[in-house]
Amino acid sequence: MQEKVDFRDWGRKVSDLLRVPNNNPLLSLAQFEAFSKQVPLLYFILVTNMAALAWTHAGKAPFWLVVVVPSAFSLLCLVRTVGWAIRRRTKVTAQEAYRRLRITNILAGPIAAFCTGWSLALLPYGDAHQQAHVAFFMAITVIGIIFCLMHLRSAALIVSVVVNVPFLIGMLVLGEPTFIATGVNVVLVTIAMIAILMTHYRDFRQLNESRQVLMAQQDALHEQNRAMQALSNENLRLANLDSLTLLANRRSFFHFLETAFCHASASGEKLAVGVIDLDGFKPINDMYGHAAGDKVLVEVGHRLNDFNKDGVTIFRLGGDEFGILKTGECSEASLAALGQALCDVIADPINVGSGVVQVTGSLGIAIYPDVGASGQDLYERADYALYAAKRFQRAGVVIFNTVQAETLNRQKRVEEVLLAADLDAELHLAFQPIFEMVTRRPVGFEALARWNSPILGAVSPAEFIPIAEHNGRIGLITRKLLALALVEASNWPSPVYLSFNLSPHDIATPENILRIVAIVEKSGFDPCRISFEITETAVIHDLEQAASALTLLRSLGCGIALDDFGTGYASLNHVHRLPLSKIKIDACFVKNVDQRPASAQIIRSMLSLCSELGLGTIVEGVETEEELAVLKNIGVEFVQGFHFSRPLPANTARDLVLSDMASQQVA
Ligand code: C2E
Ligand code: CA
Ligand code: CA
Repeated sequence: MQEKVDFRDWGRKVSDLLRVPNNNPLLSLAQFEAFSKQVPLLYFILVTNMAALAWTHAGKAPFWLVVVVPSAFSLLCLVRTVGWAIRRRTKVTAQEAYRRLRITNILAGPIAAFCTGWSLALLPYGDAHQQAHVAFFMAITVIGIIFCLMHLRSAALIVSVVVNVPFLIGMLVLGEPTFIATGVNVVLVTIAMIAILMTHYRDFRQLNESRQVLMAQQDALHEQNRAMQALSNENLRLANLDSLTLLANRRSFFHFLETAFCHASASGEKLAVGVIDLDGFKPINDMYGHAAGDKVLVEVGHRLNDFNKDGVTIFRLGGDEFGILKTGECSEASLAALGQALCDVIADPINVGSGVVQVTGSLGIAIYPDVGASGQDLYERADYALYAAKRFQRAGVVIFNTVQAETLNRQKRVEEVLLAADLDAELHLAFQPIFEMVTRRPVGFEALARWNSPILGAVSPAEFIPIAEHNGRIGLITRKLLALALVEASNWPSPVYLSFNLSPHDIATPENILRIVAIVEKSGFDPCRISFEITETAVIHDLEQAASALTLLRSLGCGIALDDFGTGYASLNHVHRLPLSKIKIDACFVKNVDQRPASAQIIRSMLSLCSELGLGTIVEGVETEEELAVLKNIGVEFVQGFHFSRPLPANTARDLVLSDMASQQVA
């Protein structure tokens, strides 16, 4: 069965071909853009071709036909060219582009008809040459125009039909074979041109579509990148934030510090770094629990956050430590005032639910360019000033000064030399006897570290032990000294005992304490003749761990003495919670006790407290006969101090105890 031809479908296809597509805004814009570039050329072709034809017919055809009509048309062309040129410079919307193209499409037919009519109207006036010029005009113009309308297919098709049909008829009417051939030839060339144009237009559209796809992909990629950037910004924000206090954290402190330092050193501006540490925070953690400790940190963080302005940035560095960076006005006076204001807000009471507590803040500050060769250096100096603030004036502000600079330099030097030291060759012990007050006999010796550095000379343990504690070398030093002390103590007659100082680090972990136990066991020395001395700082960080470490030592039979009693914080709390056997009352209470009745009273209270708790006591630092007399009067049992003996070399200590033993036997 033969298929029926659907004329309606054909009709729709033809009308589609002759219409400007309106279903793709980006295509409209691309067409507009490409076509607007061709518009001047299009009118140039039209006007010059027309002028040439008018010129060859001048004097033959009527004036209005060769002058008035072409002139008026040229003017119109000029106006339209200028109009398009202006429009090209302004950004058009897709709708506007479509509208313009549509007008051009509508005008294409009438303009083509007009030009064709005009040129055909000239035919009767010319001779064969001039008629040939008309044919040439038609051919060259239609081809040129089709070229220019390459991006506006519909208009090109309309022009082709409107020009070629009358042109062919005109040529056929002339009847001359050359004209007939020319007419047919131009029609065929036009058809070929249209075929090329159709292919070009299809390619143009496809290119445009793939560009659209590419643009859509790029948009999607941009959107994805934007989302990823937002995510990574958020991650960065969280990574730089302290989750508890919501202040900027330690990591961002050092980042800011480096950036601010670079800026300050390049611009010559001042920069101040502050480090705040809370006093009395650890006891709150111990007594009220960690949740209460967290509440304190959150509240303090909240109060400090109010200072985050005028060049001040507050950070939480970790634990109960906060950092401050200050740019702009950095005079000592203004920083001291700022520091005091910070300490004041910290000191306000805090409700932790189960009670109202109070902490205070110590603050160390370092100012660039007064000190500091780098951001890190500046921070270390602020930290050192904090250390001074805590040590000498709790709850106060200390600005790093030249005295501290010298101390810090010395510390760095000692640390350097200690790290490279041959500990076996350079370390030894001195032994200070502990005397029984009544009998005035030595009952034991406290082993005291001595370091003879070939570079620095004799360095006091009060200087190098804290440094070794700071850089972690203390573990090794303790083990070497303990082994040495036990060897020496085994030369003493029983029951003379060894008192040995432990550092916080030595009891800080189960591993560390087990290593101490192993040394004691290996020595074969009776553990009941060992007393370990610990200070409050050793137990304050982790009371639980300290208690379990000390319980282990007690289970071996060793005694535990709390050293420097009375100088620390919340001492009574620790006395109560640790498995202690005795207390060493600090030398500061003994100094001039004969002239200070208050000190005598304190010692008396401590003694009665200890006797109630079943703890032994030793009073340290007895230097004069007068002090001794007061202590004797109070009822002190055991004493230690320069008045009796300075720390002695090992062999002198041994001689002392052996001769005492001998005199005892004689007696
Ligand atoms: P400490 O444990 O309180 O030791 C007592 C210190 O006071 C010793 O100083 C001792 O020489 C000194 N001293 C004793 N009697 C008197 C006196 O009557 N007047 C005065 N002014 N001082 C007196 P040293 O030997 O310089 O030790 C200082 C600190 O270094 C010790 O204080 C202790 O904390 C630490 N240390 C010493 N040896 C060791 C050790 O082997 N391990 C650890 N971890 N620390 C040690
Ligand atoms: Ca001691
Ligand atoms: Ca002491």
